[in-house]
Amino acid sequence: LEKKLAILEGRIPQKYPEVKYLGYKERRRILVTGGAGFVGSHLVDVLMMRGHEVIVVDNFFTGRKRNVEHWFGHRNFEMIHHDIVNPLYVEADEIYHLASPASPPHYMQNPVKTIKTNTLGTINMLGLARRVGAKILIASTSEVYGDPMVHPQPESYWGHVNPIGPRACYDEGKRVAETLAYSYAKQENVSVRVARIFNTYGPRMHVSDGRVVSNFIMQALQNLTITVYGNGKQTRSFCYVSDLVDGLLALMDSDYSLPVNIGNPVEHTIEEFAVIIKDLVPGCRSTVATGAAVEDDPQRRRPDIAIAEKHLHWSPKISLQEGLQRTIDYFKEELSRTTFYNNQTY
Ligand code: NAD
Ligand code: UDP
Ligand code: UDP
Repeated sequence: LEKKLAILEGRIPQKYPEVKYLGYKERRRILVTGGAGFVGSHLVDVLMMRGHEVIVVDNFFTGRKRNVEHWFGHRNFEMIHHDIVNPLYVEADEIYHLASPASPPHYMQNPVKTIKTNTLGTINMLGLARRVGAKILIASTSEVYGDPMVHPQPESYWGHVNPIGPRACYDEGKRVAETLAYSYAKQENVSVRVARIFNTYGPRMHVSDGRVVSNFIMQALQNLTITVYGNGKQTRSFCYVSDLVDGLLALMDSDYSLPVNIGNPVEHTIEEFAVIIKDLVPGCRSTVATGAAVEDDPQRRRPDIAIAEKHLHWSPKISLQEGLQRTIDYFKEELSRTTFYNNQTY
Protein backbone atom coordinates (compact mmCIF):
# COMPACT_ATOMS: atom_id res chain seq x y z
CA LEU A 1 0.00 0.00 0.00
CA GLU A 2 2.82 2.37 0.92
CA LYS A 3 4.37 1.85 -2.53
CA LYS A 4 1.03 2.35 -4.31
CA LEU A 5 0.37 5.57 -2.36
CA ALA A 6 3.86 6.79 -3.22
CA ILE A 7 3.13 6.18 -6.93
CA LEU A 8 -0.19 8.03 -6.64
CA GLU A 9 1.48 10.98 -4.94
CA GLY A 10 4.16 11.03 -7.63
CA ARG A 11 7.01 10.26 -5.21
CA ILE A 12 7.81 7.12 -7.24
CA PRO A 13 7.21 7.40 -11.00
CA GLN A 14 4.54 5.02 -12.35
CA LYS A 15 6.18 2.22 -14.37
CA TYR A 16 4.41 1.09 -17.51
CA PRO A 17 5.37 -1.64 -19.96
CA GLU A 18 7.66 -0.12 -22.62
CA VAL A 19 5.73 1.83 -25.23
CA LYS A 20 7.02 2.78 -28.69
CA TYR A 21 6.93 6.47 -29.57
CA LEU A 22 4.84 7.21 -32.67
CA GLY A 23 4.56 10.57 -34.40
CA TYR A 24 1.05 12.00 -34.85
CA LYS A 25 0.91 10.83 -38.48
CA GLU A 26 1.43 7.17 -37.58
CA ARG A 27 -0.39 7.15 -34.25
CA ARG A 28 -3.97 5.92 -34.48
CA ARG A 29 -6.85 6.32 -32.06
CA ILE A 30 -8.20 2.83 -31.55
CA LEU A 31 -11.43 1.84 -29.82
CA VAL A 32 -11.53 -1.67 -28.34
CA THR A 33 -14.99 -2.77 -27.19
CA GLY A 34 -14.75 -5.60 -24.66
CA GLY A 35 -11.16 -4.48 -24.03
CA ALA A 36 -11.24 -5.53 -20.37
CA GLY A 37 -11.99 -9.14 -21.33
CA PHE A 38 -9.64 -12.03 -22.01
CA VAL A 39 -8.82 -11.47 -25.72
CA GLY A 40 -9.44 -7.70 -25.64
CA SER A 41 -6.90 -7.03 -22.89
CA HIS A 42 -4.13 -8.87 -24.77
CA LEU A 43 -4.97 -6.88 -27.90
CA VAL A 44 -4.89 -3.64 -25.89
CA ASP A 45 -1.39 -4.52 -24.63
CA VAL A 46 -0.02 -4.89 -28.17
CA LEU A 47 -1.75 -1.74 -29.47
CA MET A 48 -0.44 0.27 -26.51
CA MET A 49 3.09 -1.08 -26.89
CA ARG A 50 3.01 -0.16 -30.58
CA GLY A 51 2.40 3.42 -29.47
CA HIS A 52 -1.26 3.94 -30.39
CA GLU A 53 -3.95 5.71 -28.37
CA VAL A 54 -6.38 3.14 -27.02
CA ILE A 55 -9.92 3.62 -25.72
CA VAL A 56 -11.39 0.61 -23.94
CA VAL A 57 -15.17 0.40 -23.67
CA ASP A 58 -16.51 -2.31 -21.38
CA ASN A 59 -19.46 -2.93 -19.06
CA PHE A 60 -17.48 -5.53 -17.01
CA PHE A 61 -20.10 -8.22 -17.55
CA THR A 62 -17.37 -10.84 -17.97
CA GLY A 63 -14.28 -8.62 -18.08
CA ARG A 64 -12.27 -7.12 -15.24
CA LYS A 65 -10.47 -3.85 -14.65
CA ARG A 66 -7.56 -5.92 -13.39
CA ASN A 67 -6.87 -7.13 -16.96
CA VAL A 68 -5.90 -3.62 -18.05
CA GLU A 69 -5.03 -1.89 -14.78
CA HIS A 70 -1.32 -1.80 -15.71
CA TRP A 71 -2.24 0.95 -18.21
CA PHE A 72 -4.31 3.10 -15.83
CA GLY A 73 -2.98 6.64 -15.87
CA HIS A 74 -0.96 6.24 -19.09
CA ARG A 75 -1.52 9.24 -21.37
CA ASN A 76 -2.32 7.01 -24.38
CA PHE A 77 -4.95 5.00 -22.48
CA GLU A 78 -8.61 5.69 -21.69
CA MET A 79 -11.24 3.46 -20.17
CA ILE A 80 -15.00 4.01 -20.49
CA HIS A 81 -17.49 2.06 -18.37
CA HIS A 82 -20.31 1.74 -20.88
CA ASP A 83 -22.77 -0.82 -22.19
CA ILE A 84 -22.58 -0.80 -25.99
CA VAL A 85 -26.26 -1.67 -26.29
CA ASN A 86 -26.58 2.09 -25.73
CA PRO A 87 -25.20 4.57 -28.30
CA LEU A 88 -21.64 5.79 -27.81
CA TYR A 89 -20.17 8.97 -29.23
CA VAL A 90 -16.36 9.02 -29.33
CA GLU A 91 -13.79 9.62 -32.07
CA ALA A 92 -11.65 6.78 -33.45
CA ASP A 93 -9.67 5.75 -36.54
CA GLU A 94 -10.15 2.04 -35.96
CA ILE A 95 -12.58 -0.09 -33.94
CA TYR A 96 -11.99 -3.63 -32.71
CA HIS A 97 -15.49 -4.72 -31.75
CA LEU A 98 -15.05 -7.58 -29.24
CA ALA A 99 -17.75 -6.85 -26.66
CA SER A 100 -19.86 -9.97 -26.13
CA PRO A 101 -19.86 -12.76 -23.59
CA ALA A 102 -18.01 -15.70 -25.18
CA SER A 103 -18.30 -18.61 -22.76
CA PRO A 104 -21.43 -20.81 -23.18
CA PRO A 105 -22.51 -20.62 -19.48
CA HIS A 106 -22.11 -16.83 -19.60
CA TYR A 107 -24.01 -16.20 -22.81
CA MET A 108 -26.74 -18.69 -21.87
CA GLN A 109 -27.20 -17.01 -18.49
CA ASN A 110 -28.82 -13.99 -20.15
CA PRO A 111 -29.67 -14.88 -23.75
CA VAL A 112 -31.66 -11.70 -24.40
CA LYS A 113 -28.72 -9.54 -23.33
CA THR A 114 -26.38 -11.62 -25.52
CA ILE A 115 -28.59 -11.00 -28.57
CA LYS A 116 -28.93 -7.30 -27.76
CA THR A 117 -25.15 -6.93 -27.38
CA ASN A 118 -24.45 -8.63 -30.70
CA THR A 119 -27.25 -6.91 -32.65
CA LEU A 120 -27.99 -3.47 -31.11
CA GLY A 121 -24.41 -3.18 -29.84
CA THR A 122 -23.01 -4.00 -33.28
CA ILE A 123 -25.39 -1.52 -34.96
CA ASN A 124 -24.13 1.18 -32.59
CA MET A 125 -20.49 0.40 -33.37
CA LEU A 126 -21.18 0.31 -37.12
CA GLY A 127 -23.08 3.60 -36.77
CA LEU A 128 -20.08 5.06 -34.97
CA ALA A 129 -17.71 3.73 -37.67
CA ARG A 130 -19.94 5.29 -40.32
CA ARG A 131 -20.08 8.68 -38.58
CA VAL A 132 -16.32 9.00 -38.03
CA GLY A 133 -15.13 7.04 -41.10
CA ALA A 134 -13.35 4.40 -38.99
CA LYS A 135 -12.38 0.92 -40.12
CA ILE A 136 -14.12 -1.71 -37.96
CA LEU A 137 -13.19 -5.31 -37.17
CA ILE A 138 -16.01 -7.53 -35.91
CA ALA A 139 -15.07 -10.45 -33.64
CA SER A 140 -17.20 -13.23 -35.07
CA THR A 141 -16.87 -16.89 -34.18
CA SER A 142 -16.56 -20.45 -35.43
CA GLU A 143 -20.03 -20.87 -33.85
CA VAL A 144 -21.48 -19.37 -37.05
CA TYR A 145 -20.78 -22.86 -38.50
CA GLY A 146 -22.90 -24.44 -35.72
CA ASP A 147 -22.58 -28.24 -35.52
CA PRO A 148 -20.79 -28.43 -38.88
CA MET A 149 -21.57 -30.86 -41.68
CA VAL A 150 -18.32 -29.86 -43.46
CA HIS A 151 -14.94 -30.59 -41.89
CA PRO A 152 -12.60 -28.73 -41.52
CA GLN A 153 -14.63 -25.54 -41.88
CA PRO A 154 -13.76 -23.14 -44.74
CA GLU A 155 -15.20 -19.61 -44.79
CA SER A 156 -17.39 -20.59 -47.75
CA TYR A 157 -19.41 -23.01 -45.53
CA TRP A 158 -22.77 -21.49 -44.54
CA GLY A 159 -23.13 -23.45 -41.33
CA HIS A 160 -25.62 -25.66 -39.52
CA VAL A 161 -27.12 -23.71 -36.64
CA ASN A 162 -30.23 -24.48 -34.58
CA PRO A 163 -31.98 -21.07 -34.50
CA ILE A 164 -33.98 -21.83 -31.34
CA GLY A 165 -31.52 -23.94 -29.32
CA PRO A 166 -29.65 -22.88 -26.16
CA ARG A 167 -26.63 -21.61 -28.15
CA ALA A 168 -28.75 -19.65 -30.64
CA CYS A 169 -28.52 -16.32 -28.78
CA TYR A 170 -24.77 -16.34 -29.43
CA ASP A 171 -24.55 -18.16 -32.77
CA GLU A 172 -27.39 -16.26 -34.42
CA GLY A 173 -26.32 -13.02 -32.71
CA LYS A 174 -22.90 -13.33 -34.36
CA ARG A 175 -24.44 -14.31 -37.70
CA VAL A 176 -26.57 -11.15 -37.61
CA ALA A 177 -23.48 -9.15 -36.60
CA GLU A 178 -21.75 -10.38 -39.78
CA THR A 179 -24.83 -9.57 -41.88
CA LEU A 180 -24.94 -6.09 -40.36
CA ALA A 181 -21.25 -5.54 -41.11
CA TYR A 182 -21.68 -6.36 -44.80
CA SER A 183 -24.91 -4.35 -45.03
CA TYR A 184 -23.12 -1.27 -43.65
CA ALA A 185 -20.20 -1.97 -46.01
CA LYS A 186 -22.48 -2.16 -49.04
CA GLN A 187 -24.95 0.58 -48.22
CA GLU A 188 -22.86 3.04 -46.19
CA ASN A 189 -19.33 2.31 -47.46
CA VAL A 190 -18.05 1.36 -44.03
CA SER A 191 -14.72 -0.48 -44.21
CA VAL A 192 -15.27 -3.80 -42.37
CA ARG A 193 -13.14 -6.78 -41.36
CA VAL A 194 -14.70 -9.99 -40.00
CA ALA A 195 -12.64 -12.46 -37.96
CA ARG A 196 -14.21 -15.89 -37.36
CA ILE A 197 -12.38 -16.77 -34.17
CA PHE A 198 -11.98 -20.43 -33.18
CA ASN A 199 -11.48 -21.64 -29.56
CA THR A 200 -8.77 -19.52 -27.96
CA TYR A 201 -7.11 -19.89 -24.56
CA GLY A 202 -4.39 -18.32 -22.43
CA PRO A 203 -3.66 -16.23 -19.34
CA ARG A 204 -6.42 -13.87 -18.11
CA MET A 205 -9.24 -16.31 -18.81
CA HIS A 206 -11.36 -16.05 -15.69
CA VAL A 207 -10.98 -18.96 -13.24
CA SER A 208 -14.74 -19.46 -13.34
CA ASP A 209 -15.09 -18.65 -17.06
CA GLY A 210 -16.72 -22.05 -17.63
CA ARG A 211 -14.98 -22.90 -20.91
CA VAL A 212 -13.16 -26.19 -21.23
CA VAL A 213 -9.56 -24.94 -20.92
CA SER A 214 -10.08 -23.05 -17.66
CA ASN A 215 -12.36 -25.76 -16.22
CA PHE A 216 -9.89 -28.60 -16.92
CA ILE A 217 -6.83 -26.67 -15.70
CA MET A 218 -8.55 -25.55 -12.49
CA GLN A 219 -9.74 -29.11 -11.86
CA ALA A 220 -6.29 -30.61 -12.56
CA LEU A 221 -4.54 -28.09 -10.29
CA GLN A 222 -6.89 -28.94 -7.40
CA ASN A 223 -6.91 -32.75 -7.98
CA LEU A 224 -10.66 -32.55 -8.68
CA THR A 225 -12.47 -34.77 -11.18
CA ILE A 226 -12.00 -33.54 -14.75
CA THR A 227 -15.54 -33.17 -16.10
CA VAL A 228 -15.86 -34.25 -19.73
CA TYR A 229 -19.34 -33.45 -21.05
CA GLY A 230 -20.80 -36.30 -23.12
CA ASN A 231 -18.56 -39.13 -24.31
CA GLY A 232 -15.60 -36.83 -24.98
CA LYS A 233 -15.37 -37.80 -28.66
CA GLN A 234 -16.32 -34.27 -29.75
CA THR A 235 -13.33 -32.29 -31.05
CA ARG A 236 -11.98 -28.75 -30.78
CA SER A 237 -8.84 -26.98 -32.06
CA PHE A 238 -7.21 -24.59 -29.60
CA CYS A 239 -5.35 -21.38 -30.45
CA TYR A 240 -3.06 -19.53 -28.04
CA VAL A 241 -4.14 -15.95 -27.41
CA SER A 242 -0.99 -14.20 -28.74
CA ASP A 243 -1.44 -16.01 -32.07
CA LEU A 244 -5.06 -14.84 -32.23
CA VAL A 245 -4.07 -11.24 -31.46
CA ASP A 246 -1.43 -11.34 -34.26
CA GLY A 247 -4.15 -12.59 -36.61
CA LEU A 248 -6.59 -9.81 -35.64
CA LEU A 249 -3.92 -7.14 -36.16
CA ALA A 250 -2.93 -8.62 -39.54
CA LEU A 251 -6.58 -8.72 -40.62
CA MET A 252 -7.23 -5.11 -39.63
CA ASP A 253 -4.14 -4.00 -41.58
CA SER A 254 -4.95 -6.10 -44.65
CA ASP A 255 -7.08 -5.24 -47.68
CA TYR A 256 -9.09 -8.42 -47.29
CA SER A 257 -12.68 -7.61 -46.36
CA LEU A 258 -14.45 -11.00 -46.44
CA PRO A 259 -14.65 -13.23 -43.32
CA VAL A 260 -11.41 -14.92 -42.26
CA ASN A 261 -11.00 -17.94 -39.97
CA ILE A 262 -8.44 -17.31 -37.22
CA GLY A 263 -7.60 -20.44 -35.26
CA ASN A 264 -5.15 -23.27 -34.80
CA PRO A 265 -5.92 -26.32 -36.99
CA VAL A 266 -4.42 -28.87 -34.54
CA GLU A 267 -7.51 -30.85 -33.50
CA HIS A 268 -8.08 -33.03 -30.42
CA THR A 269 -11.01 -34.87 -28.90
CA ILE A 270 -12.07 -33.41 -25.56
CA GLU A 271 -11.17 -36.75 -23.96
CA GLU A 272 -7.59 -36.46 -25.29
CA PHE A 273 -7.48 -32.86 -24.22
CA ALA A 274 -8.33 -33.83 -20.60
CA VAL A 275 -5.38 -36.26 -20.55
CA ILE A 276 -3.01 -33.69 -22.12
CA ILE A 277 -3.82 -31.20 -19.35
CA LYS A 278 -3.60 -33.81 -16.60
CA ASP A 279 -0.15 -34.86 -17.86
CA LEU A 280 1.07 -31.25 -17.90
CA VAL A 281 0.26 -30.74 -14.20
CA PRO A 282 2.99 -32.50 -12.19
CA GLY A 283 1.65 -34.92 -9.56
CA CYS A 284 -1.97 -34.43 -10.67
CA ARG A 285 -4.24 -37.04 -9.06
CA SER A 286 -7.44 -36.08 -10.91
CA THR A 287 -9.53 -38.72 -12.62
CA VAL A 288 -11.31 -38.02 -15.91
CA ALA A 289 -15.06 -38.63 -15.83
CA THR A 290 -17.55 -38.49 -18.68
CA GLY A 291 -21.04 -37.14 -17.98
CA ALA A 292 -24.25 -35.96 -19.56
CA ALA A 293 -23.88 -34.45 -23.04
CA VAL A 294 -24.56 -30.76 -23.62
CA GLU A 295 -27.50 -29.89 -25.90
CA ASP A 296 -26.49 -28.90 -29.46
CA ASP A 297 -22.77 -29.30 -28.63
CA PRO A 298 -20.86 -29.06 -31.96
CA GLN A 299 -19.27 -32.47 -32.56
CA ARG A 300 -16.28 -31.42 -34.67
CA ARG A 301 -14.47 -28.17 -35.11
CA ARG A 302 -11.28 -27.34 -36.97
CA PRO A 303 -10.49 -24.22 -38.98
CA ASP A 304 -9.41 -24.26 -42.60
CA ILE A 305 -6.91 -21.37 -42.45
CA ALA A 306 -5.89 -21.25 -46.14
CA ILE A 307 -7.34 -17.72 -46.53
CA ALA A 308 -5.51 -16.35 -43.48
CA GLU A 309 -2.27 -17.91 -44.74
CA LYS A 310 -2.70 -16.52 -48.23
CA HIS A 311 -4.10 -13.05 -47.57
CA LEU A 312 -2.74 -12.22 -44.09
CA HIS A 313 0.46 -14.32 -44.26
CA TRP A 314 -0.61 -15.53 -40.84
CA SER A 315 -0.48 -18.91 -39.18
CA PRO A 316 -0.31 -19.86 -35.48
CA LYS A 317 3.14 -20.20 -33.92
CA ILE A 318 2.62 -21.40 -30.34
CA SER A 319 2.27 -25.16 -29.81
CA LEU A 320 -0.49 -26.52 -27.58
CA GLN A 321 2.09 -27.80 -25.05
CA GLU A 322 3.79 -24.42 -24.77
CA GLY A 323 0.56 -22.42 -24.64
CA LEU A 324 -0.97 -24.72 -22.04
CA GLN A 325 2.15 -24.56 -19.89
CA ARG A 326 1.95 -20.73 -19.82
CA THR A 327 -1.76 -20.94 -19.06
CA ILE A 328 -1.29 -23.48 -16.28
CA ASP A 329 1.37 -21.21 -14.71
CA TYR A 330 -1.13 -18.33 -14.81
CA PHE A 331 -3.91 -20.37 -13.19
CA LYS A 332 -1.52 -21.59 -10.46
CA GLU A 333 -0.92 -17.95 -9.59
CA GLU A 334 -4.66 -17.20 -9.71
CA LEU A 335 -5.38 -20.12 -7.43
CA SER A 336 -2.99 -18.80 -4.79
CA ARG A 337 -4.71 -15.39 -5.00
CA THR A 338 -8.11 -17.06 -4.76
CA THR A 339 -7.18 -18.99 -1.65
CA PHE A 340 -5.76 -15.81 -0.16
CA TYR A 341 -9.06 -14.06 -0.77
CA ASN A 342 -11.02 -16.78 1.04
CA ASN A 343 -12.09 -18.57 -2.12
CA GLN A 344 -13.75 -15.41 -3.42
CA THR A 345 -12.89 -14.69 -7.05
CA TYR A 346 -13.16 -11.15 -8.31
P1 NAD B 1 -14.62 -12.23 -22.52
O1 NAD B 1 -15.93 -12.60 -21.93
O2 NAD B 1 -13.41 -12.42 -21.69
O3 NAD B 1 -14.63 -10.73 -23.03
C1 NAD B 1 -15.75 -10.07 -23.51
C2 NAD B 1 -15.74 -8.65 -22.98
O4 NAD B 1 -16.88 -7.94 -23.48
C3 NAD B 1 -15.81 -8.59 -21.46
O5 NAD B 1 -14.84 -7.69 -20.96
C4 NAD B 1 -17.23 -8.09 -21.19
O6 NAD B 1 -17.35 -7.41 -19.96
C5 NAD B 1 -17.47 -7.21 -22.41
N1 NAD B 1 -18.90 -7.01 -22.71
C6 NAD B 1 -19.86 -7.95 -22.84
N2 NAD B 1 -21.05 -7.39 -23.13
C7 NAD B 1 -20.83 -6.04 -23.20
C8 NAD B 1 -21.66 -4.92 -23.46
N3 NAD B 1 -22.98 -5.07 -23.71
N4 NAD B 1 -21.11 -3.68 -23.44
C9 NAD B 1 -19.78 -3.52 -23.18
N5 NAD B 1 -18.95 -4.55 -22.93
C10 NAD B 1 -19.47 -5.80 -22.95
O7 NAD B 1 -14.52 -13.06 -23.89
P2 NAD B 1 -13.31 -13.22 -24.91
O8 NAD B 1 -12.95 -14.64 -24.96
O9 NAD B 1 -12.27 -12.20 -24.64
O10 NAD B 1 -14.05 -12.88 -26.29
C11 NAD B 1 -13.87 -11.64 -26.95
C12 NAD B 1 -14.61 -11.67 -28.27
O11 NAD B 1 -14.08 -12.70 -29.12
C13 NAD B 1 -16.11 -11.93 -28.16
O12 NAD B 1 -16.80 -11.14 -29.09
C14 NAD B 1 -16.24 -13.39 -28.53
O13 NAD B 1 -17.50 -13.67 -29.05
C15 NAD B 1 -15.13 -13.55 -29.54
N6 NAD B 1 -14.67 -14.94 -29.61
C16 NAD B 1 -13.86 -15.45 -28.63
C17 NAD B 1 -13.47 -16.79 -28.70
C18 NAD B 1 -12.58 -17.40 -27.66
O14 NAD B 1 -12.33 -18.60 -27.71
N7 NAD B 1 -12.06 -16.65 -26.71
C19 NAD B 1 -13.91 -17.59 -29.75
C20 NAD B 1 -14.75 -17.03 -30.71
C21 NAD B 1 -15.11 -15.70 -30.64
N1 UDP C 1 -24.43 5.64 -33.16
C1 UDP C 1 -23.57 5.64 -32.09
N2 UDP C 1 -22.47 6.44 -32.15
C2 UDP C 1 -22.19 7.23 -33.22
C3 UDP C 1 -23.05 7.19 -34.32
C4 UDP C 1 -24.19 6.38 -34.27
O1 UDP C 1 -23.76 4.95 -31.09
O2 UDP C 1 -21.16 7.90 -33.19
C5 UDP C 1 -25.61 4.77 -33.10
C6 UDP C 1 -26.89 5.56 -33.33
O3 UDP C 1 -27.45 5.86 -32.07
C7 UDP C 1 -27.75 4.61 -34.11
C8 UDP C 1 -26.83 3.52 -34.59
O4 UDP C 1 -25.53 3.85 -34.15
O5 UDP C 1 -28.71 4.01 -33.27
C9 UDP C 1 -26.80 3.36 -36.08
O6 UDP C 1 -26.34 4.55 -36.65
P1 UDP C 1 -26.77 4.95 -38.14
O7 UDP C 1 -26.09 6.23 -38.46
O8 UDP C 1 -26.54 3.82 -39.04
O9 UDP C 1 -28.34 5.07 -38.02
P2 UDP C 1 -29.33 6.22 -37.64
O10 UDP C 1 -28.60 7.14 -36.70
O11 UDP C 1 -29.64 6.83 -38.94
O12 UDP C 1 -30.44 5.48 -37.00
N1 UDP D 1 -16.52 -29.21 -22.14
C1 UDP D 1 -16.30 -30.28 -21.29
N2 UDP D 1 -16.14 -30.02 -19.96
C2 UDP D 1 -16.15 -28.74 -19.45
C3 UDP D 1 -16.38 -27.65 -20.33
C4 UDP D 1 -16.57 -27.94 -21.67
O1 UDP D 1 -16.26 -31.43 -21.72
O2 UDP D 1 -15.97 -28.60 -18.23
C5 UDP D 1 -16.67 -29.49 -23.59
C6 UDP D 1 -17.91 -28.87 -24.24
O3 UDP D 1 -19.02 -29.72 -24.10
C7 UDP D 1 -17.43 -28.73 -25.67
C8 UDP D 1 -15.94 -28.45 -25.55
O4 UDP D 1 -15.56 -28.91 -24.26
O5 UDP D 1 -17.62 -29.93 -26.38
C9 UDP D 1 -15.57 -26.98 -25.69
O6 UDP D 1 -16.41 -26.25 -24.81
P1 UDP D 1 -16.23 -24.68 -24.52
O7 UDP D 1 -17.35 -24.31 -23.62
O8 UDP D 1 -14.86 -24.40 -24.08
O9 UDP D 1 -16.38 -23.98 -25.94
P2 UDP D 1 -17.33 -24.16 -27.22
O10 UDP D 1 -16.40 -24.55 -28.30
O11 UDP D 1 -18.33 -25.25 -26.96
O12 UDP D 1 -17.95 -22.84 -27.38
